[in-house]
Amino acid sequence: MPQPPTLKIVEIFASVQGEGLRQGEPAIFIRLAGCDLRCSFCDTKYAWTGGKTASTSRVLGKVRALRKRYPADWACLTGGEPFLQDIEPFVDGLKKEGLKVQVETNGRTFRRLTADWLTVSPKPCRYEYHPGFRRRAAEVKLVVSKTLTFETVRRLREEFPGSVPILLQAESNEAWSLAKGRRLLGRALRQGLTNIRLSVQLHKIFGLR
Ligand code: SF4
Repeated sequence: MPQPPTLKIVEIFASVQGEGLRQGEPAIFIRLAGCDLRCSFCDTKYAWTGGKTASTSRVLGKVRALRKRYPADWACLTGGEPFLQDIEPFVDGLKKEGLKVQVETNGRTFRRLTADWLTVSPKPCRYEYHPGFRRRAAEVKLVVSKTLTFETVRRLREEFPGSVPILLQAESNEAWSLAKGRRLLGRALRQGLTNIRLSVQLHKIFGLR
């Protein structure tokens, strides 16, 4: 007999989207366990391993309960790396609950999903991603780390459609990263790259999760 779909979850919580174009919007966050990368700047290292296995319907029940107290319109699947798990039944279930669904991914593993918003965030050192995301990403988010180069920004600008914004996301809102983001944006403007934007971690400014 087929088993019901399960997910490995680290945490579920209500907060406000702090990064990217959806900044400032209330959302229910579902953090999935496991990641295929080990970024030095990762601020969710606790999600690399572990997590609790639960059926998709149980996780949906937890989201439903949380939403009674915090009636957000959006759910955000984050990690870890959500695309390493079979999230399709869960995304479909969230949509049936009337939620709009954002998924944040490092872009290395591709699945077709009914999600409303894909945030693709290629990571160092190679900033590789599956080309299937090029036509599906709503935004590309680049952490302005010590290793991010202008050449990477330029390459990704050339590879993704011009209508997809590339966000230069300050690493942990650090002063050196903000300054580097400004420099990268200035160079992008001078060299004719379009739809490049600055971004900070808004949730940290507001003292949210
Ligand atoms: S891809 Fe994301 S979750 Fe994975 S190590 Fe890098 S920053 Fe952390």
